[in-house]
Amino acid sequence: MITLTGKKISEGIAIGKISFYKRDTKEIRRIYVKDVEKEVMRFQKARMRAIQDLKDLYDSATQEVGEANATIFEMQQMILEDQDFISQVTAIIVEQKLNAEYALKNVAENYITYAIKNDKSYVQGHEADVKDVVTRVLRILSRAWKDRMLMDEPFVLAAGELYPSEAVQLDKTKVLGFVTRYGTINSHTAVLARTKGIPAVIGLGESLKKEYEGKTIIIDGFDGKVYIEPDYTTITKMKQRQDENHTQVVNLERLKGKENITQSGQKIDVYANIGTREDIENVLRCDAGGIGLFRSEFLYMENGNKLPTEEQQFQTYKLAAEAMGTKKLVIRTADLGGDKTAECLDLGVEANPAIGYRGIRVSLDKEEIFKTQLRAVLRASAYGNVLLMFPMITSLDEVVRAKRILERVKKELKDEKIPFNEEIFVGVMIETPAAVMISGELAREVDFFSIGTNDLSQLTLGMDRTNARLEKWYDPHHPALLKMIRIITNNVHLEGKKIGICGDLAADLELTEQFIQMGIDELSVAPNQVLALRKKIREIQ
Ligand code: PEP
Ligand code: MG
Repeated sequence: MITLTGKKISEGIAIGKISFYKRDTKEIRRIYVKDVEKEVMRFQKARMRAIQDLKDLYDSATQEVGEANATIFEMQQMILEDQDFISQVTAIIVEQKLNAEYALKNVAENYITYAIKNDKSYVQGHEADVKDVVTRVLRILSRAWKDRMLMDEPFVLAAGELYPSEAVQLDKTKVLGFVTRYGTINSHTAVLARTKGIPAVIGLGESLKKEYEGKTIIIDGFDGKVYIEPDYTTITKMKQRQDENHTQVVNLERLKGKENITQSGQKIDVYANIGTREDIENVLRCDAGGIGLFRSEFLYMENGNKLPTEEQQFQTYKLAAEAMGTKKLVIRTADLGGDKTAECLDLGVEANPAIGYRGIRVSLDKEEIFKTQLRAVLRASAYGNVLLMFPMITSLDEVVRAKRILERVKKELKDEKIPFNEEIFVGVMIETPAAVMISGELAREVDFFSIGTNDLSQLTLGMDRTNARLEKWYDPHHPALLKMIRIITNNVHLEGKKIGICGDLAADLELTEQFIQMGIDELSVAPNQVLALRKKIREIQ
């Protein structure tokens, strides 16, 4: 047995076989698949998607470099539409019961010779293009996490580093837990692990070796330990820990339907944070008072290279609104940037992304994308108790501009006779020191507030939350931060508005009593932290 120690980012025990995340399309494994029909479907979906991408490329290239130069993309499409090519790949999948990637690579290697022999002269001299088009499909296949997870048995994911845009796509029913060599406690990958309730230990360094592929692993997300090929005693101990945890969870279930009230009668609202439509169910299961933060940027991050359409967003927001009924659903407009990168929106490379082109700055700059999102949120507001929130605010002007755009979108919808809540509440995140200092002025401009302690910590401390070297100095209980929370609360209350916390500090049970004393109105935490927080509140005098 090998024992590794890392940083715990999400509690829980996971036991399973290790599978390393393959980001590199060159690393193609030969995998035996049980459900060949599903695998053929996976190939066909990736193929169709590649054809669509090539059509888009052809159109834009025609405009930019002329039709003659764009024909290359047409020729690549022809390869993907060639019936011989398709049936050769399908035959390998079906007859040899092998994975699409392997089948594709195999066919591609012999395709040129085959095509020339069979009078497909258009590929002659185009070896590079065949390679290119196959790489395109392989890339889509490797990105198609959800599809891959549909066919795989549940496993423990291992990676050098797992980026938020990848973590957002993890299917909890297939990924039992994850371990990485690198990564930081305050990154959005960690936030996502907690939101989804996936046990995870990160920062194991080089001791997490590729040769562990396929071996049994236990993740102890309570203690930040990882066991490779665990011995009998460890397995027994960890299974016992798993049972204890299960018992604790079951005991907490007794608190469902109960109030979040202290012994002396002080009440506080407890909501849940979500990021994708899959999380909605967990909010209902944990009996949260509503959704205090819908990190809508995750919809962009899981959507590949296409921006989520208005309709797509509307359907997700509507689903959440209907699931919540009269309970609140706070949709935060896309907070992209920093470590939240999305393939569908090129934000450029920056030296300091944490203090870079992010949040509301991007939305105000890319008005059409912002308007699309606002239309979707407003349309969903006709189906529940939807509130709108803007991230990364630093000035009153940003709020005024965002609200002006909102008014324009409202007018558009009205003209189109599309129903929405004309009185929708508008709030802002307080997550920059600038916003703290002007919270009084902001309180006259908006209806509610939520403190983003994750960003407020990094910006107050001047420490990038994704920089592992700074973790030893990163003090989430820093007196400056707590003082700021107190200042904001007082300023906001003076204007008769409500204030919540939706950053990770909201779930820090050591601070719950202080937050209640300060007069915080609501706390919003990961779904599976809701009942533990309720328990803590009910124990406070
Ligand atoms: C925060 O900054 O605390 C917050 C809730 O936003 P995010 O973690 O998504 O940046
Ligand atoms: Mg933030």
